[in-house]
Amino acid sequence: MNRVRLVIFNAALGPLDYRVPDGMQVGPGSVVLAPLGPRQITGIVWETERLPAATVPDHKLRPLLGKLPVPPLRAELRRLVEWTADYYCAPLASVARMVLASGGALKGPATMTEYRLGDREPDRMTPQREKAMDALQGEQATMRELSELAGVSVGVLRGLVTQGVLEPVEVDCDRPYPRALADFAQPVLNPSQQEAANRFIHAMRGGQFTPFLLDGVTGSGKTEVYFEAIAEALANERQVLVLLPEIALTEAFLRRFETRFGVAPIVWHSSLKSTERRRAWRAIANGDAKARAQVVVGARSALFLPYAALGLIVVDEAHEVSFKQDDGVRYNARDVAVMRARFEKIPVVLASATPALESLQMAEAGIYEKVDLESRFGGAQMPEISIVDLRETPPERGHWLAPPLVTEMKLRLERGEQSLLFLNRRGYAPLTLCRHCGFRFQCPNCSAWLVEHRLSNRLTCHHCGHETRPPPACPECGTEDCLVACGPGVERIADEVREILPEARVALVTSDTLNSPEKAAEFVAQAEGRAIDVIVGTQLVTKGFHFPELTLVGVVDADLGLEGGDLRAAERTYQQVAQVAGRAGRGSKPGEVLLQTRHPEASVIAALAAGDRDAFYSAETEARRHAGAPPFGRWAAIIVSSEDEAEARDAARAIGGSRPDLPDVMVLGPAPAPMALLRGRYRYRLLINARRTAQVQNIIREWLGALKFPQGVRVGVDIDPYSF
Ligand code: ADP
Ligand code: ZN
Repeated sequence: MNRVRLVIFNAALGPLDYRVPDGMQVGPGSVVLAPLGPRQITGIVWETERLPAATVPDHKLRPLLGKLPVPPLRAELRRLVEWTADYYCAPLASVARMVLASGGALKGPATMTEYRLGDREPDRMTPQREKAMDALQGEQATMRELSELAGVSVGVLRGLVTQGVLEPVEVDCDRPYPRALADFAQPVLNPSQQEAANRFIHAMRGGQFTPFLLDGVTGSGKTEVYFEAIAEALANERQVLVLLPEIALTEAFLRRFETRFGVAPIVWHSSLKSTERRRAWRAIANGDAKARAQVVVGARSALFLPYAALGLIVVDEAHEVSFKQDDGVRYNARDVAVMRARFEKIPVVLASATPALESLQMAEAGIYEKVDLESRFGGAQMPEISIVDLRETPPERGHWLAPPLVTEMKLRLERGEQSLLFLNRRGYAPLTLCRHCGFRFQCPNCSAWLVEHRLSNRLTCHHCGHETRPPPACPECGTEDCLVACGPGVERIADEVREILPEARVALVTSDTLNSPEKAAEFVAQAEGRAIDVIVGTQLVTKGFHFPELTLVGVVDADLGLEGGDLRAAERTYQQVAQVAGRAGRGSKPGEVLLQTRHPEASVIAALAAGDRDAFYSAETEARRHAGAPPFGRWAAIIVSSEDEAEARDAARAIGGSRPDLPDVMVLGPAPAPMALLRGRYRYRLLINARRTAQVQNIIREWLGALKFPQGVRVGVDIDPYSF
């Protein structure tokens, strides 16, 4: 009897057993089709020893239906899936699904049909057809994608195909990518850069798992150094994964990569078209060294791709919070990257100018190898950081830029240099209220205010995307023209700059304005061509840019990130300010940074102004030690949600009521979560604080495993949570 156990993508069902029909060859990692009730499902053949014992007797097993034409998932990747599920208390099925998240990458042949508009007009125009044709100008994608894009049914589009208006295009998902060349344009590294690169190269040649923390100030050449390691991997036909936090802004990165290696890398992110996704997935898994994907640059999900011959992982800006996934499988890509490297027996490089405290601690403990780059490349100096105390020199009424900052900006404008203003808030104003009755616009689905976006004339929820037009009158009291914007967003700061420096050319850089690679490229070209005097931006401007004429950075509200009881608030503020400060003075002219604050005495602000990184890290270390927070203790969260508030509360209470009574584990709550309502679901939370050595995952599994919840209740576990 040839029995196999499949991991299928249904978290509720768990692994299932099937019979392998005669003549079918499958082994661990094979991706197969199997019957489930009347449906056909995809599953991955798993080893049986790690899974719970089978319950179905041999004679009841149903046969597999077929095998998909992709290489079996390697044992290293399956170990990673198991580790991730285990560590983050997530169902194996949910993690395995991320590996095939590309879903479409698997089923069916290597060619797919996309459609695009041709020259023909339909015989008869209908409103739906017109809508589709307007929306699909210049687009080419699969039927389902076009239907989503245009907001019309597939039926409408099929009608257009029959009429010859939409033309089919066959896309070959196996066409090879152009090859990167290790020595396309090799820079000359300075001695400390070369030494750093050599350490990575040496580790790659050794074929051992080696985690590195590449700690180097902004502009020291970290990218240049890991490019050398990439070149080594390319020369040896090994693949490289580069994880980047902000996929929207890799444009600068991609160009730089292309300059170095002759072609762009393969980019992997969640909004790829299904044909691109399938092409990338297949190339990444390809066993043929001459044809397979060489370098993949991606957001965190690229970690779970089926690399055939991974030789190096780089996590750039490794301290970034966006590496932490906050729903579904709540994993931290930085930590999972290290585990993947461990299973693959390869080096992993965590690069940052402001490493996470946890990473520094690992280096101190000798678990990570620390590689330092202490000065900027080419003799550029680190910028001078000073404080603008808003209590002493407040901005004018209704303004947000204080006189000392305005003075410096004027000076830059006179000298033909550039300034950058940073405020991590999209939109015009974070809150809108009625002057007459005090009514505040709140999201109906979330515990959040609606943010006014003047450019798009909308009130928007930044959590669920809910949008509405600002009404002419207050919805509560009916007074007309009574709405006032409270507080600044970047749009408002840009307006203020235009008002006080009317001759300045201002660029607004947020995910709303820089929402395509073309726009990003256009912005970079303008800034480099000195067609911009003042850049106003959100965190999108803090990374990756290198503008030699930029000599002033103004942090509009350095206190912003310190609000709220978030345990990582200070660290995040430090990182963000250090990062954006790093944009100043990268060329031959020195840079200057002004921090607007009402709390100059706060330890993080003081450390920034003193340029004393060690002071910051030691204060932060003490605070964490005191709170029993990582790396000194463990935190975990259990998040209970339901569309029904009472149901969520009752479930959370039931969990709280059966809390384990253990000496080294403390349970707080349940209490309403910080976002008590999110996307229409009411949320309650329990926090678990434990000694570092406690088996938190086992404790939680046992605890929750004994409970049953109503259908509508979701219970999620967040190990090492980021937001408190
Ligand atoms: P980081 O990643 O540490 O911020 P980068 O790698 O972006 O630093 O380097 C900063 C700037 O210096 C970039 O414009 C880069 O091209 C340049 N640079 C760094 N090292 C070299 C080198 N060895 N040769 C030429 N240019 C270099
Ligand atoms: Zn919302």
